Amino acid sequence: MHGSGNSDLNKGLLKGLRNKGSAVEAEPASGAPLSGDRLTAIAAEFERSGSGWFWETDGRGNIVYLTAEIAELFGKSPEMLPHTLFSSLFLTDLGGDGSAPRNLSLLFGGRKTFAGLTVRAALEGSEVYWVLSGRPQFDAAGEFIGYRGSASDVSEVRKAENETSRLAEFDSLTGLSNRHRMQRKIDAMLTAFRAAKRVCAVMMIDLDRFKAVNDTFGHKAGDELLRQVSARIKRVFDTTAEIGRLGGDEFQVLLPDYDDRGRLGEIAKKVIAMVTQPYQLEEGRCMIGASVGIAIAPYDGVTSEEIVHSADIALYAAKNGGRGQFRFYSSELQSESHLRKVLESDLREALEAGQLAIEYQPIVSASTDKVIAMEALLRWYHPERGKIPPDVFIPIAEESNLILRIGEWVIRKACADAAGWPEEVRVCINLSEQQLIAEGLAHLVSNAITQAGIHPDRVEMELRESVHFSEGDATERELNAMRRLGVRLSLDDFGTGASSLGYLRRAPFETIKIDPSFLRGALREDSRNADLIGALVALAKALGMQTVAEGIEAMDELALVREKGVDLVQGFAYSPPIAADEVDEFLSGQGWEIKPSGPEKQRSERRKLYQKIHVIHEDHLYDVILRDLSRTGAMIQGLLDVPVGTQFVVDFGEGQLAIARVLRSHQDQQGVEFETELVEDGAGGLVTRNRVSPYALAAAGMPLAQLPPGQYPLAEQAGDQKMLTMPRFGVRNLKAKLEY
Ligand code: C2E
Ligand code: MG
Ligand code: MG
Repeated sequence: MHGSGNSDLNKGLLKGLRNKGSAVEAEPASGAPLSGDRLTAIAAEFERSGSGWFWETDGRGNIVYLTAEIAELFGKSPEMLPHTLFSSLFLTDLGGDGSAPRNLSLLFGGRKTFAGLTVRAALEGSEVYWVLSGRPQFDAAGEFIGYRGSASDVSEVRKAENETSRLAEFDSLTGLSNRHRMQRKIDAMLTAFRAAKRVCAVMMIDLDRFKAVNDTFGHKAGDELLRQVSARIKRVFDTTAEIGRLGGDEFQVLLPDYDDRGRLGEIAKKVIAMVTQPYQLEEGRCMIGASVGIAIAPYDGVTSEEIVHSADIALYAAKNGGRGQFRFYSSELQSESHLRKVLESDLREALEAGQLAIEYQPIVSASTDKVIAMEALLRWYHPERGKIPPDVFIPIAEESNLILRIGEWVIRKACADAAGWPEEVRVCINLSEQQLIAEGLAHLVSNAITQAGIHPDRVEMELRESVHFSEGDATERELNAMRRLGVRLSLDDFGTGASSLGYLRRAPFETIKIDPSFLRGALREDSRNADLIGALVALAKALGMQTVAEGIEAMDELALVREKGVDLVQGFAYSPPIAADEVDEFLSGQGWEIKPSGPEKQRSERRKLYQKIHVIHEDHLYDVILRDLSRTGAMIQGLLDVPVGTQFVVDFGEGQLAIARVLRSHQDQQGVEFETELVEDGAGGLVTRNRVSPYALAAAGMPLAQLPPGQYPLAEQAGDQKMLTMPRFGVRNLKAKLEY
């Protein structure tokens, strides 16, 4: 035996062990007590067997004796041992999910006998666990002189235990938390955070097209793909996030202290971008996508069921929205389908009730400013909801096939109106795909033209880029029949869809209308769209087509499209759409020539809207209509003559409040600028970064609950309990609340 072993010590140790019963119990031979030599031999044998070892310290905790194999394991020579604290051989943290280890030095300080203490060796790269027992030693005078004890190896048992608890908590494929653990974490966090008035976000991530890869390449490849996906997802989040795989291709992330929707949207975009990169698998390369739904507690739910349900609804909406997208939960996601149903039934009556009308927007020659054509744009004046934009009701009309009746009315009315304009001015009419698929469109157009008594050449049919047709199908037959009539065809919204230049060659278009979104991109510095516009114009010319730039508002845009050689221009820079009965009055006075005017530069892009919202000014809550919205500001309608500079709060509903200042004011319309920019909602819309916290509302007497839908919070009185009413927040108060 080497190390610092000496037989006296072994004897002493064994005696202690035998008497006090520890983890290592030396069985005395039956009958005669063990003699000193035999004891030493047995102890040595025991040490050699590797099943256990002995230790002894002095009063300060330094090692006096250590079984040689163990000293070697730690690379300690016999000379080093007296200068080594026994406790330094062990990690203070057991690792895994074990209970917090009791501190050895603390135990020693208490001078108590102990047994069954699990410790982990402070050895890098190996996982060795022992169970220690020890007993304080005192000299004849009763002075404490150190500890003696023994230890045995429990590494295997311990590792097995760790593995079992890991399996119960973690997903064996990816190592991420499993559903059970996520559920527990969310529960725990919501409970703790409610007391601390803290927020947290739950993100649901679902892979798109994962099933296809699994089916094509097999399950082994599918598993490998999931491992790679989880590695990528992990890289997006910081260490505070708890990431789990709930099963299949569904992931969940819990983000403590996140409620900034700007930041969350950025993170979601990053997740989608990372997951969408190609994967290299043994079986081949593949690509998948991801959809993300986000809900934030306490705004979208205060219990774990509520918040997970909300995140699920948001995920579902993201998937329905065309995949590869993210969505924040909002109660509107639930009621959108309801609103569509209501509008659809109202729309059935609209035509007979005389609620539909057409406005005309001039299309002007870029070189002469002469009006070349007028585009018919359908309007719906709803008796209760006011003017509803076509972007909202045309899709509803298309889905319910109402578009056939409405479309026929538009064609007849537009042709009749055009009869009253100068001969050289054309009329442009928008078509839906349904009208082309249904039989008899060319016949109808021919009939309308004859009745109006105009030349077919003056009629131009606009088809959206998304219209699909293939050789010999009904759509193509109708298009050709219209061409034979002498009617012109135009491709609308070019640059928004995926139409190829091949499409241009196949379809018999006279005109291509370049979508504003394409153009807006062109004015950004890094954009190649300006070159593309040039190329498109050149190609159109080669194919004998005219080009129209749509949605031209600012003078820099007009200059760009003129420079690129675009033939015709349509947009607010020349004229907004005007009511049918005002066309003559408006244009004949100017000789059907319009001088362009507008801002020098394009403002940040505005999104067309129709939505009832509220404005809070001092003690009052006003109903207004949101006409127009961008990140930086909005156009609202419904307040009369508000002075420029007035500050108020715009309430978008669901606790979304934005402080705004009036920049422009004209009769009942105000252009306002937000103090804090809005952020994208993932659905092409905008939302406020933060919302009024339900905690703040709870403090003001409202029960703690997720934010109620619709206008918010409702000015209500329940019994004698006065509920929080919006007007009670002054602008200043709100400001304080918004700045958390
Ligand atoms: P579109 O055919 O691309 O019509 C151009 C849209 O851009 C119109 O929106 C017009 O008001 C708007 N616009 C024109 N100049 C500017 C500008 O300078 N700036 C901005 N921001 N917008 C400008 P509107 O009237 O809301 O119509 C939207 C869409 O609804 C139309 O897009 C068209 O696709 C569809 N639509 C309108 N009328 C009909 C119709 O009778 N039948 C069918 N099937 N669709 C229609
Ligand atoms: Mg159009
Ligand atoms: Mg268009």
